Amino acid sequence: QRAVEIRGLTKHFRRQDGSTVPAIDGADLSIEKGEFVVLLGPSGCGKTTLLRSVAGLETPDSGRITVGGTTVFDGATGTNVGADRRELSMVFQSYALWPHMTAARNVRYPLENQRGARRDRSTMNQRVAEALTAVGIGDLGGQYPSQLSGGQQQRVALARALVNNSDVVLFDEPLSNVDAKVRETLRVELLSMQRRFGFTALFVTHDQAEAMELATRIAVLDKGQVQQFGTPDEVYARPATEYVAKFIGNTNELEGTRTEGGYSTSLGLVRTSAAAGERVSLLFRPEHGKLFAERPDMAAALPGRVVAVLFMGTHTEFLVQAGETRLRIWVSGRSTDFRDGDEVWVGLREQDVMVFPRE
Ligand code: ADP
Ligand code: MG
Repeated sequence: QRAVEIRGLTKHFRRQDGSTVPAIDGADLSIEKGEFVVLLGPSGCGKTTLLRSVAGLETPDSGRITVGGTTVFDGATGTNVGADRRELSMVFQSYALWPHMTAARNVRYPLENQRGARRDRSTMNQRVAEALTAVGIGDLGGQYPSQLSGGQQQRVALARALVNNSDVVLFDEPLSNVDAKVRETLRVELLSMQRRFGFTALFVTHDQAEAMELATRIAVLDKGQVQQFGTPDEVYARPATEYVAKFIGNTNELEGTRTEGGYSTSLGLVRTSAAAGERVSLLFRPEHGKLFAERPDMAAALPGRVVAVLFMGTHTEFLVQAGETRLRIWVSGRSTDFRDGDEVWVGLREQDVMVFPRE
């Protein structure tokens, strides 16, 4: 039994001129129990709409959603379980705390308003104290939101999501309003909390580094469609589409035309058995280009000149002007092998060249 299952989900919004845009366009996702799934994509690609559809805050046009094996939405049968009856919690980007309630009251709120289970006050207060302690603010329960920092407010929102012991917790860019240092800390804590409480997380972000750090699997979205759903390793090393390759990590790009033994480019032949059509984009990661003083015998050897050498701490970045193309090559650590102005060859192995069809 899956934690969350999404099948053929579609949702259109009407524009002011009467036309409609698909915010979600036939999305499928199967999420296992205990997974930390990140929905990743640029602003406007449909992440929030997808999450709100799972929460029951948005009604899709068609498709099906199950949570913990229970069908909560089915366009074909008209099933649509209310948001308050879905067994999940949600953390919003804006924290969404009640300003007139203390942190503890905010966290207690979902317990007081939960359907079914009636709880006595002392049990509730104990659960609230546990949740606040779990998120590292056990001593701030008496404070009002306005007395708390952004990071602390987000911890309150997190405690409120955990207090129900929901099996599934939805997060809509919860860290985007806190500053970079706090964000780092909260990410790590969020992961350890997820492992400890054992909930399934569905987490929205537009930040690919955040996605790589948190996810067991990443769903890369573009215009309401799931372009790829895979582990961080898979989407980085074997991107399904050019869009995914460019959105996750850095790439160098050449245009190629099919020829004997591979693709011909403005910088010479790229030998490859990949066959993705007549006209293609050839992409490679900066860390996969190797620099040589003499022409190497590799799948590709691209001639160029070093125009800048930048030490980045973990690696050295060489900017290589190759014809019209500016290539970025990363060598780990501090490299002094080449300098500004040196003539070089960028060597590539066949397995490091990603080939995608061009329209
Ligand atoms: P994201 O969270 O990835 O930034 P959203 O799900 O918020 O994307 O939006 C997806 C698309 O749907 C966008 O084109 C957005 O303008 C549109 N949209 C979202 N909510 C509404 C709404 N309530 N009314 C009309 N259009 C909307
Ligand atoms: Mg959004």
